[in-house]
Amino acid sequence: MTASNAVVDVSPDPVVYLNGEMVPLSEARIPVLDRGFIFGDGIYEVVPLYAPADGDAGRAPFRLTQHFARLARSLDKIRIANPFDDAGWRELVERVLAANEAQEGGALAPGQHAIAYIQVTRGVAKRTHTFPAGAVAPTVFVMISPLALPNDTQRANGVRCVTAEDKRWLHCDIKSVSLLGNVLMAQHAAENGALETIQLRDGMLTEGSSSNVWIVKDGVLFAPPRSNRILEGIRYGLIEELTQAIGIRFEAREITEAELRDADEIIISSATKEVLPVTTLDHAPVGSGKPGAVFAALYGAYQQAKAVETCGVA
Ligand code: PMP
Repeated sequence: MTASNAVVDVSPDPVVYLNGEMVPLSEARIPVLDRGFIFGDGIYEVVPLYAPADGDAGRAPFRLTQHFARLARSLDKIRIANPFDDAGWRELVERVLAANEAQEGGALAPGQHAIAYIQVTRGVAKRTHTFPAGAVAPTVFVMISPLALPNDTQRANGVRCVTAEDKRWLHCDIKSVSLLGNVLMAQHAAENGALETIQLRDGMLTEGSSSNVWIVKDGVLFAPPRSNRILEGIRYGLIEELTQAIGIRFEAREITEAELRDADEIIISSATKEVLPVTTLDHAPVGSGKPGAVFAALYGAYQQAKAVETCGVA
């Protein structure tokens, strides 16, 4: 197969940022010696951008500061110098967003919510496992894509998840582009008619293949504590704040497989799923088999927080 017939159909071809240039996605290229390609040596972020209800341009980010803080933490943990400060990142995301909003018939239909995908790798260098000896510029990529939120049926009925042993490495706190473990778990879910795989390590709940997992028992919300075994979702801190605002008791502690299976409610959270009720786990109903009261309260509070922060565009 030649490079030309390996090209992916990216229509309607969004404008992306790659190393200082704004280019159509179809023309964006990185050298094969990029350490992101060779070693998965890089990190990424996904920031939701909400469209105003009236269909106008001017999508607004949600929890941008927190996303940039996690981006900085991930870079720090793998010792890549942050190529921008928060203001620089913000300007960059706004620039790529504006270019796509200006594109007639482009990737973003009016009223369509979006995500900013940000990726930074250690750059291009001769293939050796150790970090490049000299100063190597990181590869910086920013892409805007449409965001399809869960639909009303998924929220009203809840979704199905399956469980599997968490076999990933022990730096799950880094938002690394080395996502093979998560990819295999996502595929496992898809092949088993589920939305997500909920992972367990040594009999304890960790997280979904691309979400954090919460359980409810007797009105109390529980989640595994922040640690190297999970990615601290930006919704982790947000949900913690929301429980205080709406008077739901929250406790971060280890959750056993038995507690997961015996939960009254299971909820998953991520930038693209917001909060979503899980009503079937493997082949068994979760609690009553219907989305519960804690989910309903959190969903309402989430929408309100979003509306406030994105200037009433929820
Ligand atoms: N855990 C994993 C493994 C994820 O990929 C994600 C999605 N980024 C999350 C948790 C949730 O993070 P966030 O709330 O920032 O989307």
